[in-house]
Amino acid sequence: MPNRPKWLEDRMRRAVRQVLKTYKIEAVSRTPVAQTTGIATYSVHSGRKAYEVGVSDAWQHAPTCTCPDMKRVGDDQCRGFCKHAIAVLLHESDHRHQLIDLLF
Ligand SMILES: [Zn+2]
Repeated sequence: MPNRPKWLEDRMRRAVRQVLKTYKIEAVSRTPVAQTTGIATYSVHSGRKAYEVGVSDAWQHAPTCTCPDMKRVGDDQCRGFCKHAIAVLLHESDHRHQLIDLLF
């Protein structure tokens, strides 16, 4: 096994085992790709908490999320990917290719 950073493994694992398995991911709004602000917004919620993940349709920047983890951990630690953002990218085939930014 290559020596992957632990934060990456932890985050991927939480995205799949926790968020994908137990949260609901729903599209909130989708702006047409032609618009400059093309951001697809998703609601990621468990029974108690709900966060909003924004994904750039044109892949112009990393996903955004309203969770505290996203604010706390800097870009160099997670490259702008919290577990909710990872789960949304895994869940939504239109955006799945953007996960490559997390891995390399
Ligand atoms: Zn998040």
